[in-house]
Amino acid sequence: MASTTPPVVSFNMKNSDPTGYNSSKQIKDTFTEKSDIFITEHFKWSEFACHDGTPVPDFLRPNVTMLCTNLEVIREAIQMPIMILSGYRTKEYNRILHLKDPRVSLVSQHLQGKAADISLGIVNVKGTLFKCPFDPVDLANLIESLIERELISEGGLGIYSNFIHYDIRSNKARWDFSGR
Ligand SMILES: [Zn+2]
Repeated sequence: MASTTPPVVSFNMKNSDPTGYNSSKQIKDTFTEKSDIFITEHFKWSEFACHDGTPVPDFLRPNVTMLCTNLEVIREAIQMPIMILSGYRTKEYNRILHLKDPRVSLVSQHLQGKAADISLGIVNVKGTLFKCPFDPVDLANLIESLIERELISEGGLGIYSNFIHYDIRSNKARWDFSGR
């Protein structure tokens, strides 16, 4: 890896594509143990590991792969990298979050590798880094439009003040904790 590449641009961006606007959706390397391997075109296993350091368990990898297939559609639509703030969570780690904030469900979709809390990432334009403008309501509306067009799973969509929760549960769920 070139030492001139700022580490911050590793968020689902390809170094060979400095704008991060690569559009193909090939799934690869799903069954390798290396956490920095790509799940889909732009998302890596390391981005979905629990914040306590636990990698995504093998039996949940199909769920995370399906989630990423949906996230690729969102990424393609917004033409910006997506920052994964929280992906897979162990039961223990999720319980700690629940104790801090009761809005965190004890049966969260994060436990099954079906959910991601997302914000927008950083783009590298000719060597200069720019934080993507982020409005949670705008992003939620865009995700809803993709759902209406049946391009991604209906699933769960939650709006927070500084991120969006999206998951691929089999039923529809919506909530707004943005405080707007
Ligand atoms: Zn979440």
